[in-house]
Amino acid sequence: MNLAIPYHLENFIGGNFIGPLSGNFIDNINPATGAVYGQIPDSNSKDVDAAVMAAKKALPAWSVLPVEKRFIILNKIAELIDENLEELALAETNDNGKPLWLSKQVDIPRASANFRFFATGIMHFANESHQMEDKAVNYTLRQPVGIVGCISPWNLPLYLFTWKIAPALAAGNCVIAKPSEVTPVTAFLLGKICKEAGLPDGVLNILHGVGQHCGEAIVKHPAIKAISFTGSTRAGEHIASVAAPMFKKLSLELGGKNPNIIFNDCNWEKMLTETIRSSFGNQGQICLCGSRILLERSAYEAFKNHFIPIIKKLTVGDPLDSTSKQGAIVSKVHFEKIMNCIAIAKEEGGTILCGGNAVKLEGRCENGFFIEPTIIEGLDQNCRTNQEEIFGPVVTIQPFETEEEAIALANATGYGLSATIWTQDIGKANRVASKVEAGIIWINCWLVRDLRTPFGGVKNSGVGREGGWEALRFFTEAKNVCIQF
Ligand code: NAD
Repeated sequence: MNLAIPYHLENFIGGNFIGPLSGNFIDNINPATGAVYGQIPDSNSKDVDAAVMAAKKALPAWSVLPVEKRFIILNKIAELIDENLEELALAETNDNGKPLWLSKQVDIPRASANFRFFATGIMHFANESHQMEDKAVNYTLRQPVGIVGCISPWNLPLYLFTWKIAPALAAGNCVIAKPSEVTPVTAFLLGKICKEAGLPDGVLNILHGVGQHCGEAIVKHPAIKAISFTGSTRAGEHIASVAAPMFKKLSLELGGKNPNIIFNDCNWEKMLTETIRSSFGNQGQICLCGSRILLERSAYEAFKNHFIPIIKKLTVGDPLDSTSKQGAIVSKVHFEKIMNCIAIAKEEGGTILCGGNAVKLEGRCENGFFIEPTIIEGLDQNCRTNQEEIFGPVVTIQPFETEEEAIALANATGYGLSATIWTQDIGKANRVASKVEAGIIWINCWLVRDLRTPFGGVKNSGVGREGGWEALRFFTEAKNVCIQF
């Protein structure tokens, strides 16, 4: 199929590609080159109104379409994503700055996996029934919510966009979806794929634009009954303040400051390999990255001696070059934020053990936004560097003496998304796992994902869970029917 990317992207409303009603566009920048290479709609409430009208028209038929038919269409979308992997991966890398090999190996395959998973999942999603001995029986219908809003961030663009859209569609809802304005292209291409796959017009509507105009209008629209949001805690807090008084269903997947707890008795080789990924994968721009490495004191120096030389060798380079281990930071604004965080860490008395600088490349990427993988030590847990999410290639390391101290340090932030625990002592691993305040724990691994498991955080990392039945429950309303014998 033709996945050509026009210079001016368009919204996908009612099965048509149309420009923003205001006629206003905003620049789309390739972060590896710093160059404007397209324009995207600066959509507002008028575009959201049009999308809602299209969704209202489509909802009666889609919401009662037999699950077998929904399966066929969603599975076809998965197949078309796979067939167009090369084009989609290149588009993702040009928008986001991540290495092309990463887009090919992780982002795009996961997008098709999301559709395939929920296409089949909905075929197995059963109603509960509760019998009251010989008096009555209850059965609980799970009906589509109606029109729902899905808003996603820039770090794993198509991966997270589809993680919301696929269960929403599978459950029989019509969707108004907005990708990040920083990484809009694969979402635009998804519209073309959905059309090709035979998704009825208006079932999925994809709008582009900034949070304050387009995102806010989706959250405020009275006909949109549920909001599934992934992004910053700051935006999540605001969205909750708008949506809660309107009694909308809300799922909020927010920021993190995840601890990576390493005991001396772990499998060192595996721990080091995974800690490279969990610290700097996707330039540290994964909400699940372990940005605080907590080390048992007796392992502290050995860890530094092994880890720092490897990190110093991680090549930062052109994302299109297969030898680049690290690509570009997603935008100039985010690049400046990260550099400012490194400056703050220095002011707070941190010692930069490696990295700490912007990287100036030559040729095609001379104006791109690149930062060295950075390791910092010597900071107190209460300082800003150890409390605030940086969301870049920056980790701190801190020693601990005992299991209790490790748990206390792990829990000493406002966030609670994920944690990793490294030890060969299974009893200790399970004790620590049960006490760390996080929605997701990995023991002796990182980012091993089973799409059936609940996904989400506690504290300021969010409300609700995605994944598996949790997502299908979120995107449906439970209606209990009681029949007396
Ligand atoms: P962001 O909050 O700035 O934006 C996320 C999305 O929300 C974008 O589409 C944006 O346009 C939109 N938005 C912003 N303000 C809005 C508003 N007032 N109303 C409606 N929509 C609005 O986040 P970001 O910078 O794109 O992404 C990085 C953040 O996302 C980090 O904090 C990261 O931890 C978090 N994240 C969390 C998870 C998770 O699963 N918990 C996964 C990935 C990223």
